[in-house]
Amino acid sequence: MTTSLLDVAGVKVSPDHYIDGRRVPSATTFELFSPIDQKPLGRIAEGLEDHTEAAIAAAQRAFPAWSAMSASERLPYLERFAEEIGKRADDFCRLESTDAGVLLSRMRHGVVPRAMLNIRWFAQHALELQNRPIDTEQAHHIVRHDPAGVVVIITPWNAPLMLSTWKLGPALAAGNTCVLKPPEWAPLTCSLLADCADAAGLPPGVFNVVQGTGASTGAWLVGDARIARVSFTGSVPTAKSIAQAAGANLVPCSLELGGKSPFIVLEDADLDGAAATGALMYRNAGQVCLAGTRFLVHEKVAERFIATMRSHVAKLNVGDPRDEATEVGPIIHPRQVERVEGFVQRAVAAGAELLWGGERHDFGAQYFKPTMLTQVAQDSEIVQNEVFGPVLTLQTFASDEEAIALANGTDYGLGGVCYGETGHATEIAKQVRTGFIWVNSFGIRDLAAPFGGIKRSGVGREGGDWSFEFFCDVKDVVVPK
Ligand code: NAD
Repeated sequence: MTTSLLDVAGVKVSPDHYIDGRRVPSATTFELFSPIDQKPLGRIAEGLEDHTEAAIAAAQRAFPAWSAMSASERLPYLERFAEEIGKRADDFCRLESTDAGVLLSRMRHGVVPRAMLNIRWFAQHALELQNRPIDTEQAHHIVRHDPAGVVVIITPWNAPLMLSTWKLGPALAAGNTCVLKPPEWAPLTCSLLADCADAAGLPPGVFNVVQGTGASTGAWLVGDARIARVSFTGSVPTAKSIAQAAGANLVPCSLELGGKSPFIVLEDADLDGAAATGALMYRNAGQVCLAGTRFLVHEKVAERFIATMRSHVAKLNVGDPRDEATEVGPIIHPRQVERVEGFVQRAVAAGAELLWGGERHDFGAQYFKPTMLTQVAQDSEIVQNEVFGPVLTLQTFASDEEAIALANGTDYGLGGVCYGETGHATEIAKQVRTGFIWVNSFGIRDLAAPFGGIKRSGVGREGGDWSFEFFCDVKDVVVPK
């Protein structure tokens, strides 16, 4: 018997797992709270070993038929999946604003359209993958992208819908079957995704959702020897456990992890443009992996840049993420607020100077003022560690060489931003050791482009062909001439 639906923000959503095309309840549940005001939203199924076992078995049973279809045969299923997401756009917006605190405006104009595109684009792109020939004097090589098998997908709370579809799109389009473990602090939009897959007529077992905590449900899934791939987005410590568990079975992992990305402002930068973009780093309360969080500003323009950015930050609307005018919402969890506060207090105690912010916001206990710290040493905790909150640092430099050394001086290597005269900024950007970097811009993403980090920010690339390289067994069929 399934559990009754939860009513969250006027949306009816199942708290149960979705396994083999059916809702499956659990004898064990956990309480979910909204980051907006810490009100309880309902109890969610906790994935026990029986559930992870059943989900992987269902995905295995569904694999032969789903993988035997051509990409063009799978296309209509995935088109319908994207359409179903579109039909429930409003529900997705309200749910993720309520359980994850993501800005409603961002959900409506960014995340939901992107979630649909994640499914559609990879379904289309899969059509171009089949049988790429390589001809040599000796032989025809038919290079095939065969689906790998059962894929486990694990996503974090800061962007559950976007990141789950980012992985599901290519995994399903390539012919794999999937088990998704949503984040326990924001599990609801992934449950709604299962309703969309069901309404789209995806065959039972092709897409399964097992709710639960990372340490138990997630660990059981990634340690199962029957799986073929793990695609993970989240923190570095979790990635290490996942890589160990999957590595024990030689299961390849794609790991998209945290960042401490530089935001470089050169002497020849458009300071107002840079400062306006800089203020965007506080969006989603700074809980954005790819945000530039370490401002590196040429000493000759630092004073003017700080004054300009201060005026942009002063205009930011901090408040309820369900209000379309809000630009900075809540921090996901009381534990996370304490973590953010701890970082700031320790930095100040170590000699950092607060340029603005530095404390909780009057709007509520889960809200923190956009904060900027300066007079910070390169080897200090605040410069070296990911805060994942609305807290940035600012350091100055005197030369391009110094800017590059500071930019590259952490163990992270996810993204970056570089403002300056375009040719100059592009040259500097090339020397910053990260997986991607934006010149005089921020956040431009194209699904055909590679995405991922280096050093502690990740292993592997997703996006475009890179997603298919990961989710497929690439095979060379050699036919002599
Ligand atoms: P987290 O690592 O705590 O959790 C992520 C997911 O892993 C959750 O679903 C969790 O339940 C699961 N998990 C935890 N332990 C597990 C285990 N032992 N085995 C299997 N699964 C396990 O991360 P978080 O706090 O939810 O997310 C924030 C982090 O994610 C930040 O570091 C942020 O930078 C990163 N992030 C990276 C990207 C990117 O694309 N690079 C995007 C968004 C977030």
